[in-house]
Amino acid sequence: MKPEMSYEAYRSKLSKIADLGFAGAVLSWDQQVFMPKLGAKARGRQMATLSTLGHELFTGADFGGLLDSLVNDPALTEAQRINVKLTRKDFERKKKLPDAFVEKMALITAEAFGAWVEARRQKDFSLFRPLLEQIVALKREETRLLGFNAHPYEALLEDYEPGLTVAKIDEVFGRVREELFPLIQKILSRPRPDHSFLAKHYPKGKQWAFSEKMIRQMGYDFDSGRADDAPHPFCTTFGPGDVRITLRSDEHELAMMLFAAIHEAGHGLYELGLPLEEHYGMPLGSALSLAFHESQSRFWENNIARSFSYWKANYRTLQAEFPENLGSVSLESFYRGINRIEPSFVRVEADELTYHAHIYIRYLIEKALIEGSIEVADVPRVWNDRYEEFLGIRPSHDSEGCLQDIHWAYGSFGYFPTYSFGSFYAAQLAAAMKRQIPGYDDLTSSGNFAPLLQWLRSQVHSKGREFTSEELLIRCTGKGLDVGDFMDYARTKYGSIYGL
Ligand code: ZN
Repeated sequence: MKPEMSYEAYRSKLSKIADLGFAGAVLSWDQQVFMPKLGAKARGRQMATLSTLGHELFTGADFGGLLDSLVNDPALTEAQRINVKLTRKDFERKKKLPDAFVEKMALITAEAFGAWVEARRQKDFSLFRPLLEQIVALKREETRLLGFNAHPYEALLEDYEPGLTVAKIDEVFGRVREELFPLIQKILSRPRPDHSFLAKHYPKGKQWAFSEKMIRQMGYDFDSGRADDAPHPFCTTFGPGDVRITLRSDEHELAMMLFAAIHEAGHGLYELGLPLEEHYGMPLGSALSLAFHESQSRFWENNIARSFSYWKANYRTLQAEFPENLGSVSLESFYRGINRIEPSFVRVEADELTYHAHIYIRYLIEKALIEGSIEVADVPRVWNDRYEEFLGIRPSHDSEGCLQDIHWAYGSFGYFPTYSFGSFYAAQLAAAMKRQIPGYDDLTSSGNFAPLLQWLRSQVHSKGREFTSEELLIRCTGKGLDVGDFMDYARTKYGSIYGL
């Protein structure tokens, strides 16, 4: 085989593309953490240049030829064959979208972002509506360009959870509607636990120090990561050994920074556990899907850090940090307070149960927009009606309703379900870990998370994109997605908190 047609040529090309991508991530992180305001224009151009270069390298005709010649090469090892096969799948999908289409989408979403910000400020959906109409029209065109089997929405899901179908989502949310929503109603008929102590004054520096202690305990290593202040919490990867998170704090909201830190560190541990060094820029070195990524953050945030065992290990330390606020709050009351269930308008502030109503509503709306069964103009009404139907509350204006999320302005349709699926995967993984790891609860209540992280590393992180989510769940839990594990978790935990 000619050297330019070898696996080495493939590896080297993907490595260059990854260099460009990770360099872009540094610029974007800096933009959100340190960059002065007036640097925005040049920074936008620099990031666009890197991303265009990466796109050109990836979609160039010579790369298609290289992948074609490698895909049936008997000399490849199994791992190499998987990398090439998955890259070819990505390549074919990208090639289906003509450059002119991609450019048009970029232009309209850039304009839509400004319109969304302004519409949100004025609490007026009509200012965003014309742009959203253009975006929905483009997304529908995209489903035709990409192709699909049963439902056009599935063409878009592929970006976030490959292989996920509308039938599966409907089945899963069918159970959520039948079992979770009535459970929430039952909970709401009971007295709500006090959580006023979470809103006392918690100085930022001390919150930061405690959050750092908690994420170190999980296994997040500051030799290969760091945490910085930013308006939005996120996790970003610059390469092997450099996975960072950002945090934001509110001195009158203890739960916000702490749980966001644990959530983002959960994403970080996944990134750090990927075999990125060995498969740099290649599918086996990459995260499986957004939904699986979310399962990792939610496992730590909800299944671990919102459990009674976790606070058995850590509450005394927290109390010692804030004796004036928590000195007289018992462990039991603290646990009940951080697990208070309450319908609210804003998704990112929702508790771990009502959260799924927020997602279900967004899913119903975006699926209907893509299949054409509702118009963009109907969105505020449908949104508000659904909030009333599922959560018993009606937004008083569009900013606490359908304008709250940025996803649609970015053209991200099919993203929302990954949040719920992440929680459902997490519950299933946690149930399997409880069966497979001896003394799971004792480990948690003594703050020893190394065996749990080790399990995640070997069962999930080290696999990269080798399997689909469904396949990986079968391998590590013995079955495909079964929302029953999440329901069992919810019934047991909240049954005991609320005395049901
Ligand atoms: Zn997340």
